[in-house]
Amino acid sequence: MSFELPELPYAKDALEPHFDSMTMEIHHGKHHAGYTTKLNNAIAGTDLENKSIEEILTQGFDNNAIRNNGGGYYNHCLFWSILSPNGGGNPTGEIAEAINSSFGSFEDFKTEFSNAAATRFGSGWAWLCVHPDGKLEVCSTPNQDNPLMPGIGCGGTPILALDVWEHAYYLKYQNKRPDYIAAFWNLINWEEVNLRFIEKN
Ligand code: MN
Repeated sequence: MSFELPELPYAKDALEPHFDSMTMEIHHGKHHAGYTTKLNNAIAGTDLENKSIEEILTQGFDNNAIRNNGGGYYNHCLFWSILSPNGGGNPTGEIAEAINSSFGSFEDFKTEFSNAAATRFGSGWAWLCVHPDGKLEVCSTPNQDNPLMPGIGCGGTPILALDVWEHAYYLKYQNKRPDYIAAFWNLINWEEVNLRFIEKN
């Protein structure tokens, strides 16, 4: 079995003006597609071929191709799923209560998450994760690492992700990563984040 590049759940221009069409086309059609192909090449003929991406990521690595491309595959699948042209605004449901309980308020959470995304040096990701007790955590990782990987210093199951690689924003925002982070808040599919929270809590 090999991994397949998922279709975007919206048109590539549907997230305009926040995420531009050209960036979405290249990000999904070239970058995510590249991680998918390279992951499949890296696991071909090994016992990882029949494992889920979560199983592959949680077991640890002796192979950087699997780490980088397995992370790249998983991270972008999550990222596309938590964006929506009808997104943004305030969370509702159980995730809203959990955010208030873990961070004090939605505004405090926004500040902490935005700060994690802005201060990640170089390429990487910002995450909102849920622990088995329902507690939420904000963290960030370099490269295509993610919180499912062992020993990453950032635990739990990711339920919200922001890609801060330059390929995610440079065409529209150039060096202005904070403007891209601000735009992200207009696109978050809180319904999907809430479902992911409920599933893991
Ligand atoms: Mn990316």
